[in-house]
Amino acid sequence: MTENEARTERLKELYPRMVEWRRYLHRHPELSFQEERTSAWIAGKLREMGCEVREGVGGHGVVAVIRGGQPGPNVALRADIDALAIQDEKTCDYASTVPGVMHACGHDAHTATMLGIASLYRSIAPSLKGERRLLFQPAEEICPGGAIRMIEEGVIDRIDAIYGVHLWTPLQYGTVATRSGPFMAATDEFTIRLTGKGGHGGLPHNAIDTVVAGAALVQALQTIVSRNVDPLSPAVVTIGSFQAGASGNVIAEQCVMKGTIRSFDERTRQLARKRFKEIVAAAPAVYGASAELEFREGYPALVNDDGEAGRFFRVAAGLFGEEAVKESDPVMAAEDFAYYVQRTKGCFMFVGAGNPECGAIYPHHHPRFDIDERAMLRAAELMTAMAENFVAESA
Ligand SMILES: [Zn+2]
Ligand SMILES: [Zn+2]
Repeated sequence: MTENEARTERLKELYPRMVEWRRYLHRHPELSFQEERTSAWIAGKLREMGCEVREGVGGHGVVAVIRGGQPGPNVALRADIDALAIQDEKTCDYASTVPGVMHACGHDAHTATMLGIASLYRSIAPSLKGERRLLFQPAEEICPGGAIRMIEEGVIDRIDAIYGVHLWTPLQYGTVATRSGPFMAATDEFTIRLTGKGGHGGLPHNAIDTVVAGAALVQALQTIVSRNVDPLSPAVVTIGSFQAGASGNVIAEQCVMKGTIRSFDERTRQLARKRFKEIVAAAPAVYGASAELEFREGYPALVNDDGEAGRFFRVAAGLFGEEAVKESDPVMAAEDFAYYVQRTKGCFMFVGAGNPECGAIYPHHHPRFDIDERAMLRAAELMTAMAENFVAESA
């Protein structure tokens, strides 16, 4: 039996527990920055396994340290643990028990997968070379995110490589994917408050209408992507929320818009930001309205190391067969795993979790989101195989 096969056998034994853990977490989700009970539960499970545990890292983060019996390189693996402000619409017995909060992105499964890996590594620690550090990271879903604070508290100090996965329902169960270079988008978020002068809907000449000024601003902001950004460099400007007025015969004095800007390339990101600020400062003034802008810098683009992405294509093909391994297109979602791979060699990977046969047909952040749970086993196999291949090739 090869080492990969031996690990897979052990992970298969652990799989029923991963399902149990994932379903427990699915029933008990907590929002970003509020993962108090989740992290205490994770730390408890890790201690039962005999792991060395650090708690309260960068907020509600937990780190498990497994020291190998022999010297060698140190590898970190990362899971995120937070849920979303979404009402669970599933009716299964593991549906969320917390009103308005749901694991609709699969972070419950990432956490359960990492607990399985912790148990595996504990059982084979004497044969490992170097340290394995398992990061249970809070607050991936909301900027500024949990990664940056954990990094500030030293979680990747003396780490030679880091790997992470996202279970991904747009990919069918059985397939895995990544790409080298820019993989997931840089993101910035904004809130714009327009102020005009309210008035009677029949007497517009006495008012300053923020619905008209706001609508013009939405249109003007769309020209950033269509007229300013290089068409060969992807970017998105989305105004996802537009709130003004409450009555059909009253001119709205206030209009509040919220949205996001996404890009892959740093030059495009800076250009889009600059044009965005110029347009917000100028366009509403044409209509007599004033604008107040709150701009929040989000995650940088997630850029995979070429060599580590190459390792993924070799390792994954060896584990699952060539036909299971795909090269992903870049994805406009953002991920704070980006901060780790800015500082350490590493790779972020997608593990297919979609399957119509078990109802896993909904996109991430959907109220009926679910996964093919077997993807957890694949994720555990993939992450540990990446880590052990890195260690073997570093020797
Ligand atoms: Zn998400
Ligand atoms: Zn996610």
